Amino acid sequence: MSISKRDAFAACCRYLGVTRLLSALPTKPILLVLNYHRIGNREETPFDSEVFSATAEELDEHVRFLKRRLHVATLDEAIEIVEKRKRPRGAAALLTFDDGYLDNYEAAFPVLAAHGVQGVFFLPTAFVGTDRLSWWDMIAYLVKHTRRRTIRLGIPPFPEFDLAALGAAQATSRITAIYKAEARESSEPFIGMLEEACGLPRPGGSVRCFLNWEEAAALVRGGMAIGSHSHNHSILSRLSDEEQLADLATSKRILEERLGVPVHALSYPVGSRNCFSSATREAAIQAQYRVAFSFYGGLNRFGAIDPYDIRRLHVFPAVARFRLRVALAAVGGNDWF
Ligand SMILES: [Zn+2]
Repeated sequence: MSISKRDAFAACCRYLGVTRLLSALPTKPILLVLNYHRIGNREETPFDSEVFSATAEELDEHVRFLKRRLHVATLDEAIEIVEKRKRPRGAAALLTFDDGYLDNYEAAFPVLAAHGVQGVFFLPTAFVGTDRLSWWDMIAYLVKHTRRRTIRLGIPPFPEFDLAALGAAQATSRITAIYKAEARESSEPFIGMLEEACGLPRPGGSVRCFLNWEEAAALVRGGMAIGSHSHNHSILSRLSDEEQLADLATSKRILEERLGVPVHALSYPVGSRNCFSSATREAAIQAQYRVAFSFYGGLNRFGAIDPYDIRRLHVFPAVARFRLRVALAAVGGNDWF
């Protein structure tokens, strides 16, 4: 079923009272971890629209629904559940935010604070307080702003993307997929090649996209939790064992020194199954993380949670779909929708 059909189906269920009915049933003892990225209006960005998970208004609706239906857990409570020290009475939800965009501080934090719930913000430490751009934002920027009708990548098998036929969003998503499959430790060669293919340079560093250390400290003072999203946001499974350990240990040390709090949690960059390996888990354990979160879907049933592969759900912004999906997951213990 396509995304729009699912949204329409969810809207129907809401209209017919199905979602309300589901919400009255007892829930399973699961940990449902939601993963957001950017908060704001996807239409307005010159960069990657696909990393926008919700507007602030949609996030507000999401939290309102979660508070009515489930227990919104703190990171410490979630770790107790993972380590089997506390059985949740029913479904518990954990709100997580990856990448440390400035809008996490400016738009998500006020919503969470107003509701008295905690969000967990996973920061790639090399990005904090800098004006650097992520590789996915650079790819999206170049594709959105090129004047060429066709982008021909300068790497075998030299694929071509017809922008008139595909549209910028589809072309960006295909080129990003190639990057994820091809890239090594540095994004530089790929971005340089794409600049040539698009006939324009990457944007200068005049816009600060990521939050800084003062803002990260304000999140902590405001009751939010901080975790590591690695140091460089490299795809960890592509690094050597030593590089992985160095990256994860560096990130934890910097966060703890800068923020003065212990850091127990890690979220793997990108987070799909092939982006972390058994060596990554070993590095996470050696660097003394207690838990690590993946990002390829799924729920976490009490008693059967892998502490170094805690499953997270991608958030679709449409509120009706969000409610139906959460209600079904809480009652059935499965991610059916
Ligand atoms: Zn990320």
